[in-house]
Amino acid sequence: MPTRHHLAILPTHPLRAGYDRTVEPGSVADRFQRRLEPDRFHPAYLRDLTSRIERALAAAPDDELSRYRLAFVLLQNNATAADVDRAARLLTGTSLPQGRRLTRLIDAISLRTEQPRVGRRVTRVNWSITNRCPMSCQGCYNPFAAEQISLDQAKGIVDKLAEHGTTDLVLAGGDPLLWPPIHQVVDHATAAGIRVALDTTGYTLTADKLARLSALSSLRLPLDGVTAEAQRAFRRSPDRNLHAALLESLRLCDQVGFTRVRVHTVANAKNLHQLDAIAEEVFSHPSVAQWVVFQWWGRRASPATVRALAVDPAELRSAVRSIRQRHPDREIILAEAAERELLNWMIQSSGQVVTFGSGPEEEFILGNLLTDSIETILTRPILDFDAMARGVPVTPRSARSGPPST
Ligand code: SF4
Repeated sequence: MPTRHHLAILPTHPLRAGYDRTVEPGSVADRFQRRLEPDRFHPAYLRDLTSRIERALAAAPDDELSRYRLAFVLLQNNATAADVDRAARLLTGTSLPQGRRLTRLIDAISLRTEQPRVGRRVTRVNWSITNRCPMSCQGCYNPFAAEQISLDQAKGIVDKLAEHGTTDLVLAGGDPLLWPPIHQVVDHATAAGIRVALDTTGYTLTADKLARLSALSSLRLPLDGVTAEAQRAFRRSPDRNLHAALLESLRLCDQVGFTRVRVHTVANAKNLHQLDAIAEEVFSHPSVAQWVVFQWWGRRASPATVRALAVDPAELRSAVRSIRQRHPDREIILAEAAERELLNWMIQSSGQVVTFGSGPEEEFILGNLLTDSIETILTRPILDFDAMARGVPVTPRSARSGPPST
């Protein structure tokens, strides 16, 4: 059995690697590039940053970079329709490539302004319930918050979701199994009638924990290669035995007869050549009900990491198509980065709710479930209800009818 170092850490913030080291520490440029760090990405920090950019803009109203920064921060901080309008005006005629990218996002938001906001429901929720993770992945795209809510607060959020009509909850992290009260949250949500899936690295999975998780609609485990080297390309940890540990978690599910495992593979430039072999490995495990291949996306990665890991979607599509032909009876889902634009409604470990675009740094605060109602959060103009409805199915096809059984 491989040795596991049960590291409980906050992964290094991946964007740091791409920071511009020439800017003056504490300047507007520096505060802007650091705004997605876990202890900064909250309304108070963004409000302060907004005031600083407004002052810079008052001194130089035509400065394109200031206009771009202000537009971006306005969109990221609980944006109202008036904020979206102002962001659009700030970017009118921009010559900056990043400004044009943001303009396209704003145009898409504007096209949706006719969509009704009242009476909408969020049926599927992702919850990054803890920021602790035993891994430190290359370009981790999880938006971490520095604060950790209590068990009572978590139960209060579950009650809000149940009352609202949420049907599916995905508990993720970091690694939710590194947060001791997780089992109570799973039990509370299940008792409230919500289907619960758990997204774990599998690093600390044991037969006892699996027995406690028997009511889950699915258990998600990662596998990104058939060799330790390919595994390390994206998902990595200081443990040299990581690859063996991930396979061991799958074997454990096989042994105890847990049949609702969903394997997540993040396809990138360094493991695409192994995708066929990964499929064979995944489907050799009787516990696996669903395989999801995520196209690696560089939303939080430095330019160097993007260059190293970005994968051509057409190439990936073709690889998955041929695997599907060989495994026609298996549920294989391809989640392309562009299709995940504004698809997530994610709660962070602080209770803050965010959604993401598919471009760099496109993370948007929508509210906080400790203080806001879900209905208020659903009025945010940035939300795309069609995208939210389109998302990757939460429950494996084989487990979608009838109560879960192990
Ligand atoms: S396992 Fe997930 S949360 Fe942890 S570092 Fe990797 S991508 Fe980030």
